[in-house]
Amino acid sequence: MVAVRGLRKRFGRLDVLKGIDLRVPRGGAVALIGPSGSGKSTLLRCINLLDTPDAGSVRVGDRRLDFDGRRRLPPDREMAAFRARAGMVFQGFNLFPHMSVIDNVMSGPVVVKGVKRDVARPMALSLLDRVGLAGKAGDHPASLSGGQKQRVAIARALAMEPEVMLFDEATSALDPKLVGEVLAVIRDLARGGMTTVLVTHEMAFARDVADRVAFMRDGVVVEEGPARQVIEDPREPATRTFLGHFH
Ligand code: ATP
Ligand code: MG
Repeated sequence: MVAVRGLRKRFGRLDVLKGIDLRVPRGGAVALIGPSGSGKSTLLRCINLLDTPDAGSVRVGDRRLDFDGRRRLPPDREMAAFRARAGMVFQGFNLFPHMSVIDNVMSGPVVVKGVKRDVARPMALSLLDRVGLAGKAGDHPASLSGGQKQRVAIARALAMEPEVMLFDEATSALDPKLVGEVLAVIRDLARGGMTTVLVTHEMAFARDVADRVAFMRDGVVVEEGPARQVIEDPREPATRTFLGHFH
């Protein structure tokens, strides 16, 4: 599970997250929607500590970190262990171009966790199989389509056995005809019980994959509720206005 409480983040004088509360139960899937600049990416980055929260707490599974601007940060070791609990997939593909597909997937377990290569390899192969790319194990990223690269990125994140998967507009850099294959992998994961937080501009996808949808604006969660209800019958005027642009 993921639980964010009273989360605050500023960049200089810009108040980007103004006290966010969000809870995703184990195996649940929440979609974050909202206009550009509302703080969706910053929230994801605070969950895996790519950005350091100023205040509030972040819990992933049974570990919680508390942040208080006036106190010292948690020790680096604790931050690193915490970060490994969340797998993140970005808009860009972020694969290692000089490594084969399977080495990309194995690198986390081997380098970060010290897993032996002959243990990591079959695990990586089964993850590639799960994203439909077992046949590409020996290829290099440059020879893959955008959709295939993004599926390798998903397998690579899964290889670290995360407690939660975070997707930040994982399909927005893709050719429209490649979007479906990546969405299908994300949908299978979420339906298969992976705790998931995803930022998306695809409202139909948010409705179909997420159990719940949170609408953010100006660093605040304005409305959170069952996916279908928030997308099809939002309660808050701001959510209606935002969704109006998609109808
Ligand atoms: P989009 O839909 O365009 O991706 P978003 O909801 O993901 O938007 P964020 O990327 O979280 O928005 O950004 C929220 C605000 O914080 C923006 O005003 C952005 O310019 C600012 N911001 C984000 N990261 C930084 C940073 N590292 N330094 C300074 N400002 C930042
Ligand atoms: Mg963003």
